Amino acid sequence: MPAAVQFPLVRAQVASWVEARRACDICQTCQKSKGHYSLVFRTLYGDVPLQSPRLHRCPCQTGIAPATSSPLRELLPDHIAPERLYLDSRWASLVPYAAAA
Ligand SMILES: [Zn+2]
Repeated sequence: MPAAVQFPLVRAQVASWVEARRACDICQTCQKSKGHYSLVFRTLYGDVPLQSPRLHRCPCQTGIAPATSSPLRELLPDHIAPERLYLDSRWASLVPYAAAA
């Protein structure tokens, strides 16, 4: 049940984050899309598959920014929620090595 609530919420937050970063920081022009790649965001309630868009650099940023960028790289750098990372680490520290491996 929590996953049924969390998955659409995560997707809505990601969509909002990406849309807010689609405009160029300097000239506010909407950056063009260069496709997307799939990633899995790991949460306590399960893995949420997401589409991470890649955006072309705005022409006004030639030479000062990479040719493409992915807004989700800033939001989800490790593709795992902090609480999931904590519990994974905690669990791994408590079980014997053979069971963890
Ligand atoms: Zn620009």
